[in-house]
Amino acid sequence: MLEANWKRELLTEQQKVVKDCLCPNCGGEASNQTLDCEFCGSENLALKEDVEKITDILGNLSEEELKDPFVMISLLKLGKYSSLVSDLSREDINREYLSWAKKMIAELTGAKELSNADQEALINLFDNGDYYQDQFASAMQNIVIANTASQAVHYSPELVYGALQQNFCQIIKKVVNDATLEKKKLEEDTAGETQAYVARIDEENFDNFIHHGGTFILNTLGHEARHVYQNYKRYHRIVEDRNDLIMFYESMIRKRNQKIYDDNYYHMLIEVDARVYGLLFEQHFRKMMFGALDESKKKEYAADYALLTNHDTMRVIDGKKVRVEEETLSLLNEKPQLYNKYSQFHYEFVKDNGHIRFKTTSELIDDYFNNKDSAKDNLYLELVKNSKNREVTMGKNQQISSTVTM
Ligand SMILES: [Zn+2]
Ligand SMILES: [Zn+2]
Repeated sequence: MLEANWKRELLTEQQKVVKDCLCPNCGGEASNQTLDCEFCGSENLALKEDVEKITDILGNLSEEELKDPFVMISLLKLGKYSSLVSDLSREDINREYLSWAKKMIAELTGAKELSNADQEALINLFDNGDYYQDQFASAMQNIVIANTASQAVHYSPELVYGALQQNFCQIIKKVVNDATLEKKKLEEDTAGETQAYVARIDEENFDNFIHHGGTFILNTLGHEARHVYQNYKRYHRIVEDRNDLIMFYESMIRKRNQKIYDDNYYHMLIEVDARVYGLLFEQHFRKMMFGALDESKKKEYAADYALLTNHDTMRVIDGKKVRVEEETLSLLNEKPQLYNKYSQFHYEFVKDNGHIRFKTTSELIDDYFNNKDSAKDNLYLELVKNSKNREVTMGKNQQISSTVTM
């Protein structure tokens, strides 16, 4: 927590500026001279109020307080609006930041305890992760995490959380701008969870990291960020390969029957995909910061990677082994409106006289030739291969049943 009131107030106002700086009418940026919209000229009252409050806060600070690095970070993050609240030029602010960042990186890499003022300035820097990021901020964030992982230094939990939050933003914000990370008490044995674009880390998982270190929390971070990405793809109807299709089918049949998810948790492709990514992310961090991988995880990773690439879609549903595609087909015929609603179904299924069925191999080959997006070639070829296998199996079954009738 930030000790001084003025720091808390300043941080709150900065966060408001981030929210208010775009024109409520047209989304255009406000001029740093008049604070009116540069595009449509509308007056931006909210932003004016925020800037006024920041001017007041800074105006009440003593000479000593104004030298606190926290103020410099605030000005840095205010970007072009800093000229409205300070006499310092952008060059001055950048120069001050650079020399502070160098000092910080030296102290962090030397595993020195940080002063409160520096820790709080870092909290400010990491706050709202996506807003201000450069190579120095990334380096500082990584060393804070690494020193906590190795328990070389104990920082304030707010600082460590800030570093994790900025790290999370780096993974996912470029694609999913609305993604956010929260810390929350989750159900027992749940390290993290994700709903839509909100990823959550369990409080106990975080406390463990603070008090015992290790890199498991990075695994959670990568895992949940991957779920956010999966959700993004699903909401935007993005299908790049057959795994995307299977993950989409699984999410649809899970809506009908949550038990399928619980009974097949280990094999559900969204979980396999998230585990593979989480482990990769954790290992990447270990390699970058410690120069070594966690050898004990290699077996686990190999097992998950095999699940991700073997395209085994068998799941246990009500005690029986069923293919995800077959279950999806039955769902579609039960609720045909889903077929019209989600274009993802149109790759593998077709509506034929009001009844939904698998496309035939020859129909899929036609799709492949008509497809203009070469990035999807593999998807179509996978579907063709899969369809052939299905037709062979169906042919065999038909032979068996006709033998029986004879
Ligand atoms: Zn405007
Ligand atoms: Zn998961």
